[in-house]
Amino acid sequence: MFLSGLQMKEVFLKAKKMRFGIIASNVVFDTQIRALIQGYAAVNSDGLLQMSTGACKYAAGSSQDIQIGARMISAMAKTFASQFPKCGIGLHIDHATPNYFDFIKFCIENDLVTSVMIDASKENLEDNIRITKEVVDLAHKYNILVEGEIGHIKGAEDEIVSEDELYTKPEEALEFVKRTNVDLFAASVGTNHGVCKGENIVLRLDLIKEIDDLLIKNGVERGLVLHGASGLTDQQQKTAIANGVVKINKDTHYQMDMASAIQEYWEKEKYAIVCPPDMDPNLYVPNKSKFDPRKWLIKGEEKMQNTVMDFCNISGSAQNSILL
Ligand SMILES: [Zn+2]
Repeated sequence: MFLSGLQMKEVFLKAKKMRFGIIASNVVFDTQIRALIQGYAAVNSDGLLQMSTGACKYAAGSSQDIQIGARMISAMAKTFASQFPKCGIGLHIDHATPNYFDFIKFCIENDLVTSVMIDASKENLEDNIRITKEVVDLAHKYNILVEGEIGHIKGAEDEIVSEDELYTKPEEALEFVKRTNVDLFAASVGTNHGVCKGENIVLRLDLIKEIDDLLIKNGVERGLVLHGASGLTDQQQKTAIANGVVKINKDTHYQMDMASAIQEYWEKEKYAIVCPPDMDPNLYVPNKSKFDPRKWLIKGEEKMQNTVMDFCNISGSAQNSILL
């Protein structure tokens, strides 16, 4: 079932207490939403779907109306999730930058989401804190959770920075959490995306523990978030969770799943839509039972479903739904 923001808070509190991770999966299409919710439900896990602003624009079609796109994705997630009473599903806005403040407000006020991420990481720390707090103040009125992040590459993208600056400084994390009151904090620990824009830097899972310990010591324990986790090994993810991570973002892996499963299908069934080289094109008839989109989209859907089930088993969220 689709969760409220308060229930999602309960999910993350349970995850933090029992040290498991909630898999947050990016979606755009109905096929992905089905695959993921069925996957979470199959292993009795709660799960979070995420929509980026780009995904919402795409979902709206040629109008690119981001509000229409968000309404569609939210309606699909809520309707589909209603079939599974023992699987809690939330919907999150991924990486919304400050110029999307009105969009965040729209989604909160129209009850479309359970949580939002305000990504003001390109601003300096003071501005980031001010903007993030503004979102927190609004969201908490509606019991919606907020994820925030601190950036470390300041100014121009090509500015040369030392490797040290690519990692979250624990004291800054503490200041940010204390002053903004965010529910979830995205730590930059060397994964190769988003939060940390650096390439080929060393993954520092020890830093997660350092941040977690400092927040706990100061009475502001929070769930930590790991972005760009598609490339991590199972063991790295388990260590991150043991160190305080409760939300693990996944996107790229699913994209690869869908593309490769459909590619495999068409490699095998090529002659359902292409005339074989040894055949007279005048005699060729395409095979409708093979090119019906349901026949090949389902291959991507099945692969994604299996992947999210694996993810939940690795992260420990399987068999741990708050609704069980
Ligand atoms: Zn990210």
